[in-house]
Amino acid sequence: MTARFDAYLFDLDGTIYLGDRLLPGAAETIAWLRAEGVPFRFLSNNATRSPGQYAEKLTALGIPTVPADVVNTVTVTTHWLRTNHPEAVVFPIAERPLIEAFEAAGIAMSEDPAEIDIVVASYDRGFDYRKLQIAFDAIWFHKRAFLIATNPDRYCPFPGGRGEPDCAAVVAAIEASTSTTCRAVLGKPDPAMAAAALAGIDVDPTRCVMVGDRLGTDIELAHRSGLQSALVLTGDSSRADVEAAAPDARPGLVLERLDELIA
Ligand SMILES: [Mg+2]
Repeated sequence: MTARFDAYLFDLDGTIYLGDRLLPGAAETIAWLRAEGVPFRFLSNNATRSPGQYAEKLTALGIPTVPADVVNTVTVTTHWLRTNHPEAVVFPIAERPLIEAFEAAGIAMSEDPAEIDIVVASYDRGFDYRKLQIAFDAIWFHKRAFLIATNPDRYCPFPGGRGEPDCAAVVAAIEASTSTTCRAVLGKPDPAMAAAALAGIDVDPTRCVMVGDRLGTDIELAHRSGLQSALVLTGDSSRADVEAAAPDARPGLVLERLDELIA
């Protein structure tokens, strides 16, 4: 066996696990990379869990993980706000892990539309008319706030073909009512996600591979960031999707199982 790449970035849902079940070969692949000392990170667009909660889930499923192994939209959105708009007052339409990360980072937050500078839309199962009204007033009535989104996903896939509406549904409600458009959409395929994941790993990006189950996010991230790419057929995108995609949108590798990476 040989590590074909110098570093590995893995999507989680549909790549490492589906729901609460590890996908075939996932644990063996990660154990082998760790034993060989090959650097890797887990990437997720889902901001409803913190990196620590992902590390706990992966460890419980049999892949020992520490929070620093995980980069998700909680990490990237917090970093983006602190870097680009450190003084901004933010209204997060988000679940607790993102709000707690903002609190820990000292990001100012408000529900008063007259003082909100940035509305942050996210995957929020507590999204309601009250939150939509605050966003509407801050953007449309007071004409002071702009909109960003933690991730572009339309839905989050569940086992058995079900799913939940994701961040794009919240963005669409705000865009439709205010006629604004989102100024930044973070998460995969935005290259900031790969940059955050590779921070602290001293390797040539062209020798790194992004492994995921979605052409439009995971493989697109690889293409936009100059990484190698591998699509695993255990989640969202199928071999037919690959064949239907434009040649420059196709993955470098197509895998039936994750452990084909190390075979
Ligand atoms: Mg996925």
